[in-house]
Amino acid sequence: MPKFRDADEPTLKNISHAIFRHMAVTPRDAAAIILLKDKEDPKVFWVKRNPKLQFMGGYHAFPGGQLDKGDNLIQVKGCEGEESVMRVCAVREFFEEAGVLLARGTANLSLERISDKRRSMAEGTKSFKQILDEDNLEIVSLDLEPAGRWVTPHFAPRRFDTWFFLAWMPEGQEALIETGELETGEWIRPADALAQWKKGEITMAPPTLHIIRTLAAHADNIGELQNALAAIPEAKRATVRRIELRPGIFLFPVRTPTLPPATHTNCYIVGGQEMVVIDPASPYAEEQQELDKFIDGLVAERRRVKEIIITHLHPDHIGGAAHLRDRLGVPIAAHRLTADRISYTVAVDRLIEDNDIIELQGDPGWRLRALNTPGHARGHLCFYEENAGAIITGDLVVGIGTVVIDPPEGNMKQYFDSLHRLLSLPRLSILFPAHGPAIASAREKIEEYIKHRTMRENKILSAVQAGAGFPNEIVEAAYGDVDPSLWGLAERSTIAHLEKLQEEGRVNRRDDGSYQAR
Ligand SMILES: [Zn+2]
Repeated sequence: MPKFRDADEPTLKNISHAIFRHMAVTPRDAAAIILLKDKEDPKVFWVKRNPKLQFMGGYHAFPGGQLDKGDNLIQVKGCEGEESVMRVCAVREFFEEAGVLLARGTANLSLERISDKRRSMAEGTKSFKQILDEDNLEIVSLDLEPAGRWVTPHFAPRRFDTWFFLAWMPEGQEALIETGELETGEWIRPADALAQWKKGEITMAPPTLHIIRTLAAHADNIGELQNALAAIPEAKRATVRRIELRPGIFLFPVRTPTLPPATHTNCYIVGGQEMVVIDPASPYAEEQQELDKFIDGLVAERRRVKEIIITHLHPDHIGGAAHLRDRLGVPIAAHRLTADRISYTVAVDRLIEDNDIIELQGDPGWRLRALNTPGHARGHLCFYEENAGAIITGDLVVGIGTVVIDPPEGNMKQYFDSLHRLLSLPRLSILFPAHGPAIASAREKIEEYIKHRTMRENKILSAVQAGAGFPNEIVEAAYGDVDPSLWGLAERSTIAHLEKLQEEGRVNRRDDGSYQAR
């Protein structure tokens, strides 16, 4: 028998994890260009993506994008097949995004002519093939050196198999970004880019960080650059395991029994010389071993784990905690309300209260502030690092899908209060959720959550005012835009909203369980 006390009430009562609407995604082909200039003192052209974008919003990256069906119509001198088509993709995307056309023959063209071409492509009046052919421009394989191929890890809502190419800025052209998808674009010394990241000012995905680091290390030895860029397994399509979007915050997705089709929970390893492991979530031996190996790697860098922390009680967050405690001999810590509820599976050694500071030694040292943030779960904890404005958000805010608020563990009024509490923090920059990718536009994301829930609540209130009484009737009226297969879960959220509205004196609950407007 399942160990839930209310197991006779099927599924819905037990479902209070975050839910996900995406299917496991196969990576799509994409290409990007690492464009350099000044051989004596190399600078690279990088962009900051618009914070509003779903995929890597607010991240720094290199211009590039997805393969287009017209890309295979163009010949590249010196190669064929995939090698050719991915170079075309890279050159086209770079031209669209940054305005530099990496084709032979452009030296004869005026800047005006080149920007006219870009405009006609943006307006759709000419294809990329046409703008190359009309001036006999030619893409040459040698101008674009392969610099690794990276696959987005499994936990992301959108995944790419990205070919990176190294190229040099042609004489007489200008790099100028197309705003919209991108916020800024600039030439920067790789060492300066790395320094910004180390200060916690910017966010980079693993390939960008690897490339910037390698460029910084090889600035005076450019001949070695191409080999160095492709030297690590991750640059040859191996699974990316070291995800350090901000210094000292490692995101390690592990496979968990979360709700299908979701497959992973993000475990975080945070700190300097001393570190904490937050939500070692996987109950599966092979995933626990992967995490063990990763932690061994950090230990080999003269770091040590001080403590294991659990954000909240749900099974897709606690599965590997006991194993890790046995292996490392360190305590498990959680909020009192979590400790009480999970005592039958994991014994918690130390209790964390709201506003407790977790100090971690290192250079720099770390101070993580625990925030009791109920709403999704009563004993839910977020962890806040003020200097970087970073929050480990658990299931309060997630990188993909919707957070289920399932009473009585879930409470909508508390959920709103917790979101507002995050907004009131002095510095806010990046969110590290337990599911899906990190969110580099923290404030916008939290505001969007509040706005969305408020919109839903208004619909629920309108439905009640229009005469819908029982939760299932209210769901039909208020969730018309949502797939009916999710209405069961939506009903749990609706009840949570109704409880909030009742507490605020805006609806009454009748004895038969139906609601009426006040
Ligand atoms: Zn949860």
